[in-house]
Amino acid sequence: MDNLWPFKFPKPVKITGRSSTITNAFVTSIIPLAEPTEDEVEHALEKLGMTRATCVCAYCGGKFSEWDHLRPLVKDKRPTGFISEIRNLVPACGKCNQSKGNKDWRVWIESSAKGSPRSREVEDLNQRIQRLEDYERWGSPERVVFEDIVGAEDWRRYWAECESLHSRMRDVQCLSDIIRDRVVRSRRGS
Ligand SMILES: [Zn+2]
Repeated sequence: MDNLWPFKFPKPVKITGRSSTITNAFVTSIIPLAEPTEDEVEHALEKLGMTRATCVCAYCGGKFSEWDHLRPLVKDKRPTGFISEIRNLVPACGKCNQSKGNKDWRVWIESSAKGSPRSREVEDLNQRIQRLEDYERWGSPERVVFEDIVGAEDWRRYWAECESLHSRMRDVQCLSDIIRDRVVRSRRGS
């Protein structure tokens, strides 16, 4: 009955609720994108036992909708060093991509996390895991050590800028709360 109820009330929005978007932008904006050729994409699919025509989610076999970074680009609010390149990408479905997030794929796939292939009782899971492990071995994705390339000083400065933006957001959130509160009270009084 409840999930048939058509009315959904919008959730309250907070400026600080956008914090992870800011952190993600700081990380992903410095990660190089190595765009693959069509041949490279086909070769990668072949390694996963797929073709262009039979491309499905590598984690669960569901309908393909996007490419997912097998090894996450972000961990603990910092870049892991892995980049956007075909050897670190696998076809995925929206359900898996959302559920996996920045988790290690091997841990996530067999975890009871909501939406994980194990929790959805996906068929032939061991075979899928095996294939992904083979893919990982074949690809051995590049890993960049940002701090060594950029230099300690600029690296430190960059993350200090990130923290400073977060701190500004928290300040502005206080003002936002005050303004909202005033508006709410003015309505009740009216
Ligand atoms: Zn999937």
